[in-house]
Amino acid sequence: MIRLPSISIPRAALGPTLLVSLLILLMFWHTPPPRPIIAPPHAVTGLHPFARPNPDESLVPPVPIVGQFIQGDRLDVISADGLFNAEDQARLAAELEQALAYTVGRFGHEPAGRINAYVGLEAGCGLHGIAYTNRRMVQVFTCANLPRNRVVTIMAHEFVHQLAHDYYGPRHLTADMILLEGLATWGAGKYWLGNYSDFAAFVRQYSPEQRLPLATGYAGRPISDMNLLYYQWASFVEFLLLTYGRERFDALYITGQHSPGSADYAGVYGQRLETLEQEWQHWLDTL
Ligand SMILES: [Zn+2]
Repeated sequence: MIRLPSISIPRAALGPTLLVSLLILLMFWHTPPPRPIIAPPHAVTGLHPFARPNPDESLVPPVPIVGQFIQGDRLDVISADGLFNAEDQARLAAELEQALAYTVGRFGHEPAGRINAYVGLEAGCGLHGIAYTNRRMVQVFTCANLPRNRVVTIMAHEFVHQLAHDYYGPRHLTADMILLEGLATWGAGKYWLGNYSDFAAFVRQYSPEQRLPLATGYAGRPISDMNLLYYQWASFVEFLLLTYGRERFDALYITGQHSPGSADYAGVYGQRLETLEQEWQHWLDTL
């Protein structure tokens, strides 16, 4: 059985402008192959506590990371001492720049400014990431035993959260979970897809009966459900963009109130989420 570290953030520490997204990588690729419901080993499995705005509380200060610093074109990359030698640190910085360029290309909008990308040490080797989008800072925690590319995979997803904040503004912080995480996962594209051509191809390996309703919260659910939801949400975002275009998607994105299914689908598309979801399922299975 795969055991993942439990992660909790005290409510009192959550702040008004903080978007926390937290990813755990399944790193047991040396154990028996993952069950079909788990993402392929090259992809990540997500655990994303969502920090709701709370104007009366202060931000969780980002963990200060002292280490090696490399200034890239659009990133300031710091990695904790002991994670990478100088050569690998330079490679990492270059790979992160490439990942940012890739996600910008998919998202379609440049970041509003430089992004701080910190890589810290996670003693338990539970790879996870966090995006302080109002601070233009993303952090990924890893250990020396994990391949460098897995840091890049996590960062790619977090970069899209930053791009979304830059483009949509503070309304991003209350986005519908389906769209928030669906967009970040879709935007990370190849970093999450591995050998799959697109998110539809990934989701199509599950029968309609195996899929979860889109408006499903992942709190308390098995990690496999959470994982599947992220891919389903990415596929749904892909469907909305391809079928109805970017303009309407952008209009929808800023109407959410955190919870999955809370965006104004009827107001923007003239159809409720359940109807769009049926369309998406049909689209998936008739491609
Ligand atoms: Zn996320």
